[in-house]
Amino acid sequence: MAKKILIIGAVALGPKVACRLRRIDPDAEITVLDRDSVISYGGCGIPYYIGGDVADIEGLRSTQSHAIRNQEFFEKTKGVKVLCEVEAIEILRREKQVRVRFLAEGNREELLEYDKLVIATGASPLRPPFPGSDLPNVCIVANLHHAKQIKDLIAHGKVNKAVVIGAGAIGIEIAEALTDLWGVTTTVIEMAEQVLPAGLGKNVATVVQRQLEEHNVKVMISSRVQEITKADDSDELTVVTDRTSIPCDLVVLSAGVRPNTEIARKAGIAIGAFGGILVDRRMRTNDPNIYAGGDCAEIRNLISGENMLMPLGSLANRQGRVIATNINGGSSHFKGTVGTFCMKVFDMGVSKSGLTYRQSLRAGFDPVYSIVSQADRAHFYPSSQAMYITLVADRKTRKILGIEAVGKMGDAVKARVDAVASLLRAGSATVDDICGLETGYAPPYASAMDVINNAGNVLDNILDGRNITIDPVGFLKEFHNSNIKVLDIRDKKQAADFIEIYKERWLNIPLNELRTRLDEVPTDEPLFILCDTGSRSYEAQVLLLANGISNTRNIQGGLSLIKINEANFICHVE
Ligand SMILES: Cc1cc2nc3c(=O)[nH]c(=O)nc-3n(C[C@H](O)[C@H](O)[C@H](O)COP(=O)(O)OP(=O)(O)OC[C@H]3O[C@@H](n4cnc5c(N)ncnc54)[C@H](O)[C@@H]3O)c2cc1C
Repeated sequence: MAKKILIIGAVALGPKVACRLRRIDPDAEITVLDRDSVISYGGCGIPYYIGGDVADIEGLRSTQSHAIRNQEFFEKTKGVKVLCEVEAIEILRREKQVRVRFLAEGNREELLEYDKLVIATGASPLRPPFPGSDLPNVCIVANLHHAKQIKDLIAHGKVNKAVVIGAGAIGIEIAEALTDLWGVTTTVIEMAEQVLPAGLGKNVATVVQRQLEEHNVKVMISSRVQEITKADDSDELTVVTDRTSIPCDLVVLSAGVRPNTEIARKAGIAIGAFGGILVDRRMRTNDPNIYAGGDCAEIRNLISGENMLMPLGSLANRQGRVIATNINGGSSHFKGTVGTFCMKVFDMGVSKSGLTYRQSLRAGFDPVYSIVSQADRAHFYPSSQAMYITLVADRKTRKILGIEAVGKMGDAVKARVDAVASLLRAGSATVDDICGLETGYAPPYASAMDVINNAGNVLDNILDGRNITIDPVGFLKEFHNSNIKVLDIRDKKQAADFIEIYKERWLNIPLNELRTRLDEVPTDEPLFILCDTGSRSYEAQVLLLANGISNTRNIQGGLSLIKINEANFICHVE
């Protein structure tokens, strides 16, 4: 008899399981149900629909051959039955049944049977508990209905000013969409002290923040929303924070998501510490007949070894394939994640894999990191652009823990991070593996010694005590809070303005004169060495060390990153 497979949830994981299973088991009786009327769409495309890159919302529901993925498509093309506007309300594990409610049919209830059940219920956006988070025009953005609601408001000219609450990836993508096409004056409010707090370290996050600001998005970090109010006589909203009040016409809440696990929990399916369904490597719950995956499940972080929630479509699809294989009697494993993600922020690409410095500390490592600022292709090639990379490793074992990268060429950024991500997944990659990582070279695509190799080389030098560093954030803190001096090894013309402002605190000895002017270098006080990117200042430090001068620290990323961290650095003391 054909196996009965029931899948709850029909967006990413659910349809993936159904379609793969159909391909490997032509006889299975596969039913997918969803409480929504719209199914199997690319939620990741929502910001690009709102921002106009994707003109038609149907584009997010169509296949490459332009078929719309609706009930009829699944029935006819895939041989999969899909029930829309049908909510699963109870799992009866002993009976192997799910009680469902037909929402469009007066909430009629029915019991559906299964041999194997898949829970693909995803996650729901959080509505923070402050007053006013449920007012009209305070929107969440999780599905195509929300996307359409927001786009309609804008397209009808009802939005001149918007506030996005939460500077995670979705909040930032929505801010870009509102600003870029529609010219909406947009403010992003984030309670953490940086944007992308769960994703990036502070140095790279600051580059992202500047990018937003340069494209007219106002960013308020370390700011807490207290309430949203609405005027009695108009649609105008006011977002009240602990620092200021911002009038606007639209608020988008992107304050994180919570896994949808109510029915699983009630059925006695094990739930983890982060609120997601617990699964093994085969994506099986504590009930051998029930699988779960995607945003509703916890997965293992392969670097920290701890469970985590990682709500990404990329992972949901991979897990879906594993589940289908296992339901069909195969043996497929989803080992876990190294948390690789990428995103576009206007004309800049951002990508990360593994742990940040702080996440590494929390996971019990003794992390150390390099920051490099280098051209993403041969520096003489006309379209070369600066790329910033942070590489994190464990001091004792030299094991790579994470990488973050930003740059104007998103594909180039992603290529570097993906290369390291595959090493991270394989486990035990060391700094030496990154130094020797073999990548293709041609001037239009890379340097002979690629930026990723240099990130490894710098870290190698740091670990060996040859490169004694401070990062731009640390430098700015110390420079403003003490009288510490800078040794600027750029040429005289480049240093002139700084000398005028910072006077005796700004010493200029160009690198090509340093060998003959060693006696001018102060040896009895700490000294920060500066160049444009941190590479020539390293050479200066090596030269000084060889001559017994060891009171220096090399500013990683150089002036280019300092100016990103503090745009008005040069005129700061005025
Ligand atoms: C704006 C936006 C941008 C994103 N961008 C990216 C990106 O660039 N890259 C990336 O990797 N990921 C991105 N994501 C995340 C990605 O969309 C999700 O990780 C993915 O959709 C998760 O798939 P899922 O099938 O687990 O859950 P979901 O997509 O949440 O689907 C779950 C479905 O289950 C239904 N459901 C829940 N409970 C029940 C029930 N009791 N009965 C019936 N139906 C139920 C829900 O209605 C929903 O339709 C983005 C998400 C959003 C919102």
